[in-house]
Amino acid sequence: MADHLVRIMTKDGSLRACAAETTTLVDAICQRQGTDLTASVALGRLVTGAALFGSLLKGEQRLALQIEANGPLQKLSAETDAYGRVRASIRQPISNLPPRNERFDVAGAIGKAGFLHVSKDLGFGDPYRGMVQLVSSEVAEDLAWYLTTSEQIPSSVGLGVLPREDGHIAVAGGFLIQALPGAKDEQLAGLEERLHALPPLTTLLREGLSPEAILARIFSGIETIPQATLPLLFDCSCSRPQALAILALLPEEERQPLLAEKEITVTCEFCRERYSFTPEELSGKG
Ligand code: ZN
Repeated sequence: MADHLVRIMTKDGSLRACAAETTTLVDAICQRQGTDLTASVALGRLVTGAALFGSLLKGEQRLALQIEANGPLQKLSAETDAYGRVRASIRQPISNLPPRNERFDVAGAIGKAGFLHVSKDLGFGDPYRGMVQLVSSEVAEDLAWYLTTSEQIPSSVGLGVLPREDGHIAVAGGFLIQALPGAKDEQLAGLEERLHALPPLTTLLREGLSPEAILARIFSGIETIPQATLPLLFDCSCSRPQALAILALLPEEERQPLLAEKEITVTCEFCRERYSFTPEELSGKG
């Protein structure tokens, strides 16, 4: 089934949750970024996390997640909007950490010391910015830690990305569960037990479970109300005029040498699209 996200709420209003399948989305992004297998898993988890975090955006609101740490991948970014459009980039796509026995050393590739940055443009005033230190560098735990401490919403995050030998993504997806004010301790303890007993997400996705089915499994026996379904897709908002505008914003000492070149090329860090300009276009005489 095509990539999508579903959002539900328990009937008593104490928990909200969403789950997503992101296989095609993560594959499109990893192909463009040229990631190796371990980097694909790391970036795919962040991409899926961004889709889950974005599930509550409205209208023209936007959200960006960024991990910057001391591992070989250096910096990973993922951005999304209220329409489920996601794009992502990675500074160093090769981790040089090949998988061992189907285990991917994501924490090693990202690096143990670093930060997760969250930025939300909610359409009024300056964007909201939050930051936490990485706790495990496995992504899901770091995202849950951010929501629980920084936004003070107790949260559980599950992320699964499995690449094939040929570099394409076999399955990718995730879930996010949040306790709302009024959630009782015994409810949360019960939920924790269920999550503990849940097979790895990549196993469920490989068995063909949809996001709906994954949530039904986690919340079996609990009455839930569907809230929304959102398609997820790779989409980059870059454009030729935007690339030219970025060049025009360069400080004079960086812009001047470019005017001596025959052709000035800008590559979008997200979709890897190349935009070429003549010096005349850059100086505004083109
Ligand atoms: Zn682009």
